[in-house]
Amino acid sequence: MAAQISRRAVLAGLAMAGSRPAFASTPPSNPDVVIIGAGAAGMAAGIELKKQGVSFVIVEAADRVGGRAYTESHSFGQPVDIGCSWISGSDGNVFTGYGRRGGFTLVNHTTAGSTLFDLDGNPASDAEWAAYDRAWGAVDRALSNAGRAGKDIAASSVVPEMPYSATVQSWVGAMDYGVDFDQLSTADYWNSGSDQPSFIVKEGLGAIVATLAEGLPIVLNAPVTAIDYSGPGVRVETAQGTIAAKACLVTVSTGVLAAGSIAFTPSLPLAKQEAVQDIPMGLLLKVPLLFDGARLDIPENNWVTYRIPEDQAGRACYFVAWPCGHDYLFGNIGGRFGWELYAEGHDAVVDYALEELVRNVGSHARKHFVKGIAIDWADNPLTLGAYGAPRPGKLAALDILAEPLADKLYFAGEAMGGDYSALVNGAYNSGRKTAKALAKALP
Ligand SMILES: Cc1cc2nc3c(=O)[nH]c(=O)nc-3n(C[C@H](O)[C@H](O)[C@H](O)COP(=O)(O)OP(=O)(O)OC[C@H]3O[C@@H](n4cnc5c(N)ncnc54)[C@H](O)[C@@H]3O)c2cc1C
Repeated sequence: MAAQISRRAVLAGLAMAGSRPAFASTPPSNPDVVIIGAGAAGMAAGIELKKQGVSFVIVEAADRVGGRAYTESHSFGQPVDIGCSWISGSDGNVFTGYGRRGGFTLVNHTTAGSTLFDLDGNPASDAEWAAYDRAWGAVDRALSNAGRAGKDIAASSVVPEMPYSATVQSWVGAMDYGVDFDQLSTADYWNSGSDQPSFIVKEGLGAIVATLAEGLPIVLNAPVTAIDYSGPGVRVETAQGTIAAKACLVTVSTGVLAAGSIAFTPSLPLAKQEAVQDIPMGLLLKVPLLFDGARLDIPENNWVTYRIPEDQAGRACYFVAWPCGHDYLFGNIGGRFGWELYAEGHDAVVDYALEELVRNVGSHARKHFVKGIAIDWADNPLTLGAYGAPRPGKLAALDILAEPLADKLYFAGEAMGGDYSALVNGAYNSGRKTAKALAKALP
């Protein structure tokens, strides 16, 4: 029963909120629906259920809302998006509207310039630039042609070998999809909606996502350990008590589902379990590096890329410099190399990112360096990776994952975000769409 959920948790949410929105003060004592997770998908589902007049409560394991959308300011004294930072395909992206209405500063990142270094760490010549541009075109064509032809195969099997191919593969595979090209599905690539135009947000995209919480009944610090959907309705066990409801909507990552941190009774059907395994979590390891105000001759918002040997795809740290005028660059490391490096520890990650920067921009960067952080999505038990990436040949798993069970156990979240899967707007869309279907099917 929701009555068993401690009111303290809700009040903790209110007290901690600070600049964050205040949640509704009391969850309903006998909700029709329990939503698990207060990330973009869970809160969007709440917004939809509220609109439909369905009573619900959102239970969240962490002591804050937002999940993988989170802006923190305590490390650097300025906002850092440790999860999502781009409002991709901003013209049709719901967070453009939330950002504008909320008075946030949206900075157009479509027009940002690039800084490129050659293999020796020298600024790229015109010929190098031309080779880099050619590689972007050729890699995109190869993947798109395969995807358009309906081929759900590994991107590595079609990618052209040419100068800068490994560099482009690092951006596209390891950093964008969180996986290397042998694990990137050409069909998934082809199905992805355009990420242009795009905005970054001075106050943080995570801060925009947190505004979704306003007026929603959210219980923090309430990890769900079990969901029993064997009888009439569902029983959801949390660290703060058990809630009985008619239906339940699960929005945790496929990493959390695969880890088995939530026990289902009866067990999830085999097809659903296989779908979870077929959408493993990729990793984008973000490494924000704070400097003392020096700009190291790199313009604000610039992408910073350097060429790597062609047999080293994915082994790189590329940066976005001084986003929105802040005094940090954020490094991006992803895929297999990201997992390996993270396993060596926080300091190893920061040292690697700084050394890669120094090798290219020069040792004076070291003098101006203040500190760095390696974000913990890899081993954070509430995510266990950055976002889901369907294995090549397994695109159908996305639909299987989204299928409701027994008309009362529903699934939503970034992996089920359609054209915008893996993205925060995809998570939001999936939450709203699923909640709408759930409300319609409620007895
Ligand atoms: C490093 C990084 C960079 C990214 N960059 C971008 C970007 O630039 N643009 C973009 O659009 N997207 C980006 N994304 C993706 C985007 O952040 C996610 O797709 C989106 O935030 C996921 O939302 P969600 O609601 O599906 O999942 P989540 O945000 O993970 O929400 C699920 C919630 O469930 C909670 N939870 C987990 N287990 C339990 C449990 N047992 N009981 C209760 N609650 C539980 C979690 O704490 C979490 O709050 C990025 C993600 C990462 C990690």
